[in-house]
Amino acid sequence: MPKKSDLARQLKGHLELLQTAGVTQFPRKPRAKAAPAAATKAAPPPAIVQPAVAKPAAQRQIKPVIVASAGLAELKQYESERARKLEEMAEQVRVCARCLLCETRTQTVFGTGNPDSMLMIIGEAPGGDEDAKGIPFVGRAGVLLTDIIQKGMGYRREDVYIANVLKCRPPGNRNPEPAEIEACRNYLLKQIEIIDPKVILAVGRFPAQWLTKSNAPIGELRGKVFENDGRKVIATYHPAYVLRNYTVDTRKKVHEDVLKVVAILGKGNIVRS
Ligand code: URA
Repeated sequence: MPKKSDLARQLKGHLELLQTAGVTQFPRKPRAKAAPAAATKAAPPPAIVQPAVAKPAAQRQIKPVIVASAGLAELKQYESERARKLEEMAEQVRVCARCLLCETRTQTVFGTGNPDSMLMIIGEAPGGDEDAKGIPFVGRAGVLLTDIIQKGMGYRREDVYIANVLKCRPPGNRNPEPAEIEACRNYLLKQIEIIDPKVILAVGRFPAQWLTKSNAPIGELRGKVFENDGRKVIATYHPAYVLRNYTVDTRKKVHEDVLKVVAILGKGNIVRS
């Protein structure tokens, strides 16, 4: 059962998105009819309410937020062919207007880390801190993810490549909508193709379902090793979930999952030279 505060946050995010799409009013459920008055006075006509529909995309001009990209700037420090290809892509993502999240973002959050890594970690979508800084996993969940990488797997965070299913923050940190995931789909596919990781660690339900092409809950997807296009995919709980359910059992399961990554990649260097 979701917590009331989570539902409220998701509802707020959904309302913000609808507002961006031009929805300003919702139809009200008609009130129950009052018993007819004894007097013969005619009843007032019912109030006219607007239906909750957005203006068709063709009729409204989408106004994407386009600013410098921290992810693009970070890529300049790498000299490989993969870094150059990612730079080209990050530039396309920077100006993306494929869905309405482009209007509410502060900036796009493309990805971070070493483009020549054999390990890619894929999260869900940027939150508030990531939207502000332009880098994935820099908030509280990011601190825990860094611990999982460094203490749980024994790697350096900067040696891993980290990205998200969505490149823009859903307002109010609500869950990604299917249409948003679809709009961002080719970006993630291309990132994976360029980086060509040996192992992908999916953190949370959305990346886990996306990579395993399944609707199963994360509890069923974790603990296994899947194959995707010749790559190994391992799913685990999202660090934000772990923070909300900070039990020995949850942490033990995440530890078991990430050890599966280490069993494949080994304890040594995970960056291709
Ligand atoms: N949660 C995610 O899934 N991704 C981020 O970048 C931050 C929080």
